[in-house]
Amino acid sequence: MEIKNVLCFDIGGTFIKYGVVTEGGRILYKDKTATPRAKCRINIPIKLSEITNVLKDKFNLEFVGICTAGQVDIDKGEVIAGGVNFEDYSGAKLSEDIYKSTGLKAFVENDVNAAALGELWMGGGKEIDSFVCITLGTGIGGAIVIDRKLYRGFGGYAGEVGHMTINLKGEECNCGFIGCFERYASTSALVKKYIEASGVSNSQKEELKTNGEEVMKKVKEGDAAACTVYREYLAALVAGLVNLTHILDPGCILIGGGISAQGDLFFEEVNRLFQEKVMKPYGSYTRIIKADLDNDAGLLGAAYIVKERFKNCSIIN
Ligand SMILES: [Zn+2]
Repeated sequence: MEIKNVLCFDIGGTFIKYGVVTEGGRILYKDKTATPRAKCRINIPIKLSEITNVLKDKFNLEFVGICTAGQVDIDKGEVIAGGVNFEDYSGAKLSEDIYKSTGLKAFVENDVNAAALGELWMGGGKEIDSFVCITLGTGIGGAIVIDRKLYRGFGGYAGEVGHMTINLKGEECNCGFIGCFERYASTSALVKKYIEASGVSNSQKEELKTNGEEVMKKVKEGDAAACTVYREYLAALVAGLVNLTHILDPGCILIGGGISAQGDLFFEEVNRLFQEKVMKPYGSYTRIIKADLDNDAGLLGAAYIVKERFKNCSIIN
């Protein structure tokens, strides 16, 4: 028996993206809806079930693949810790609730892991066996793929690269520790430091908060504060990439999200600085490249986990 179309959800703090993905990785249909603001533990499964029931017959769906922000128990299909952007999300029984409401079996994965699997299947990881995938956004997410398999670690939470310490005398992080990588090298860190350095007005602050695009515009214009902040930002980012390389020697690091959209110029600079800092042997072959799939990585990864878990169960009831 083969898997037909899979309905995939990518649950983020602002939007729930969803789409129908074929077994070959083609996206047949795509849409998004606002993420419920309150009682996410109840309201997110309800929303997912409603969408599933609408699309189920239209696309001949048999399975649902879900990726979500937060920590996930993949065996139970539950959210263990929902994260700061969700109100009352921890404990959401995504698989169970969707099965009860729609009759479809649903598999759940963490969103960054799913994005890495999406890249492995259809993107920048297609031709390589091992890589680290990091996403630069509000924080920094990470996933480690070794020999074409996601490395989960002992407890299942490997890849929290955003919380590796790069400055022991540094800023406090919301994880409770100090000097974490994401305090310095996430897109929101870049924006925050630019706001501090430039003394922009309150009205401009709102605009700047959303993404790093405005700051990058200032960098290209030669704005002195923006250039200083950007240089420090790159130094922090590269420090993290060097740490990851020295420990894992992945051969390739894919970067997605936020500022990676800046493209070639950004990656040329990152690679140049990386070569300066990393120990010689790694430098000769390690590539730091843009993740290919951008917004679709999560959806494709969610479809991929359904394929993989289906393959690993001889019979699915
Ligand atoms: Zn932290």
